[in-house]
Amino acid sequence: MQKLLDDSVTYAKSFPKTGAVASYIPELAKADPTRYGAAIALPNGRTLISGDTDVPFTMQSISKVVSLILALQTSGYDAVFKRVGMEPTGDAFNSIIRLETNTAKPSNPMINAGAIVVASCIQCEHPFEAMLQLTRKFCGNDQIELNEAVYLSEKKEGKRNRAMAYFMQSEGILPSDVDVEYYLDQYFRMCSVSVTAPDLARMGMVLANNGVNPVTGERVAEGWQVRIAKTFMVTCGLYDSSGAFAVKVGIPSKSGVGGGILSAVEKRMGIGVFHPMLDAKGNSIGGVRMLEFLSQRMGLHMFSEPETVAG
Ligand code: GLN
Repeated sequence: MQKLLDDSVTYAKSFPKTGAVASYIPELAKADPTRYGAAIALPNGRTLISGDTDVPFTMQSISKVVSLILALQTSGYDAVFKRVGMEPTGDAFNSIIRLETNTAKPSNPMINAGAIVVASCIQCEHPFEAMLQLTRKFCGNDQIELNEAVYLSEKKEGKRNRAMAYFMQSEGILPSDVDVEYYLDQYFRMCSVSVTAPDLARMGMVLANNGVNPVTGERVAEGWQVRIAKTFMVTCGLYDSSGAFAVKVGIPSKSGVGGGILSAVEKRMGIGVFHPMLDAKGNSIGGVRMLEFLSQRMGLHMFSEPETVAG
């Protein structure tokens, strides 16, 4: 398996360098486009690593998985899905169009508008602290912290997210008695939590194990919450590439414009990959290549024949 992981990084590097690092959040433009990292976390506690696995990057949209689970934990199913839908959009992650043409209720929790509403559903005194703690538990890493520079950069430049939040408040989707900036601040912070590929691999393993850390036996989230999160990872996890990714890779996954992708192979393993160059949809180019390789070579597609699954 170590050899396959190494080969997946080599495979991803073999493609011509296309795409670009995210620059609409100025601080993200500083990412080194030559970095490729991949990690696999196994139920026995072993984490295999290859490439630039010590390079930190911000979770960005991957944080939407954690905040959704925290919202479900603190507000419950009905309160969350009263305010956010369950359908993929086929639009870009930061698209505004459906908020007015369809309904102001965002289509799902994995698009930006949906995640801002989800942030408003986290019922506790210090929502960001709670989200950070939950991320640390999922990743089995107490050292995970906010990247202050990325947070401040996004807070300063996040005009599009701000526009969506004010629009949703005007339509009564966000509470009118709370300053919209409060929810936006939580959202920007959550996106700016800094992780590595092995952190994501370990989080993927907990998700693959339905919310229980297989090493410590600790339950990080309830099975029903994890099932909902993984379902959205299948249908909406790679923005408007989710359909093609499901056909080609077939592993519940969530990408972020920081260049990371979180993947959970049911019962078997968690995978974390990282490469900051993004395609036109905002997905990590090298990350998708590595996952394509691993899925094919190890038979990890969710509809693989059991006998094709490598041990
Ligand atoms: N923080 C980013 C934004 O709001 C997250 C988007 C992403 O990773 N797709 O634009």
